[in-house]
Amino acid sequence: MSDTYLNLVNSGLTKEIAKKLGLPRPAVLRRFDPSKPLVPGPLLVLGKGESADALASVLLSWQQDVRRHATPKEKLGAILMVLDEVMSPEDLSSVSLDAGASLRDLASGGRIVTVSRPASEAQDPAAAAARQGVEGTLRSLAHELRGGATANGIVLANGTGATAPSVAAALRFLLSGRSAYVNGQFITVGSAAGELPAEWTASLAAKTAVVTGAARGIGAAIARVLHREGANVIVVDVPAAGEQLAAVANEIRGTALQVDITRDDAADRILAHASERYGRLDIVIHNAGITRDKLLANMDASRWDSVIAVNIASQLKMNERFLASEAFSKQGRIVSLASTSGIAGNRGQTNYAASKAGIIGMVRATAPLLEPRGGSINAVAPGFIETDMTARMPALTRQVARRLSSLQQGGQPVDVAETIAFLASDGAAGVNGQVLRVCGQNMVGA
Ligand code: NAD
Repeated sequence: MSDTYLNLVNSGLTKEIAKKLGLPRPAVLRRFDPSKPLVPGPLLVLGKGESADALASVLLSWQQDVRRHATPKEKLGAILMVLDEVMSPEDLSSVSLDAGASLRDLASGGRIVTVSRPASEAQDPAAAAARQGVEGTLRSLAHELRGGATANGIVLANGTGATAPSVAAALRFLLSGRSAYVNGQFITVGSAAGELPAEWTASLAAKTAVVTGAARGIGAAIARVLHREGANVIVVDVPAAGEQLAAVANEIRGTALQVDITRDDAADRILAHASERYGRLDIVIHNAGITRDKLLANMDASRWDSVIAVNIASQLKMNERFLASEAFSKQGRIVSLASTSGIAGNRGQTNYAASKAGIIGMVRATAPLLEPRGGSINAVAPGFIETDMTARMPALTRQVARRLSSLQQGGQPVDVAETIAFLASDGAAGVNGQVLRVCGQNMVGA
């Protein structure tokens, strides 16, 4: 699936014409490429406290070129705004204004990352105002960036220090090309749980993962990225998609399991397959999903019920089995596909939004069950992603949907897949019960 407009405004004569006419020119995003550096230039770390020093040390340990003060006219790969010690709104100014003064020097595909504390855990109103203020600044700044640069934040729950493993894992993810389509979002690190990989490009080495709905689209992309990161992958889809499913399994040297996830024995069949072939199951990616769009006034029971059955009821049933099974690793990781429609709602999608909002509820309520065993469950909420699902939208609606984000384009399946691989890694164990949007900062909803 490709975006012809984006291709035209970034190549040859049509690029020049678009420039002259002042048409919007969505940038080609900086995506993961193992042969490229983590960021496209030196990193500027702003902030004076202990966390700023600790994070600068982390970056140095990754052989990054770190600055604590801006050098005029030097192109920067990223700016880190460390604001975890703000106690009143006045405390926001020096780091924010210093970042502002360096924005013109931020390279294409550059990154801004804030580090802050949750307003909900502040002791007094002034501190809560300052912490919440970071959110307002970051989200606005993300709208202002150009050239495919993005701005996202890491929020450290009280009691979690800047040196927690998941802070490093989240920072690395946000700085890298893997977060290309994540913009204007926050990742909360809730604990010091987690273990960093021996190799950052093999973050899932020796793990066994299952991906549902993996015959095509986002699911197939997830299977490819999990495999690239070192996991053994079991791909699941309905029997009707068997041929495509087998092709994906062959490509990633994984195994295919034809099963409809709404069947009562779906989880047991997955567990049995994983135990027989790999002796373990560590990662579950609930990706399979369907749309049956209609205005509620025209909705029939089969449309409503099938969406609920596939998108949420099946996952609730399967999770119960996984959590009760010895075959599912104690430190198991579950990632579910929500949707921005489940956050903001979408015309014609009452059934789909009920199921996807349901995912968010399920993830929040399941997180405390997994935490004591070292496991985690999170949701990823994609915005507009270029797949068969969105190719079915009317052409004009599709064009508009693509431009309705700060990055002025739809995401690629690989963008969702990279975010899922991050959340499925042991480095991200301190991130639990969260919803992370992969939407290019879609203007719809929160
Ligand atoms: P897709 O329609 O291209 O692929 C979905 C896959 O799930 C298909 O291979 C299908 O056969 C499989 N599937 C459907 N019902 C199944 C069942 N009962 N058992 C097993 N497999 C089943 O969809 P996609 O665009 O790749 O979306 C993947 C996920 O991402 C879905 O959960 C979707 O709701 C979510 N999502 C997609 C977008 C987007 O823009 N494409 C946006 C938000 C959320």
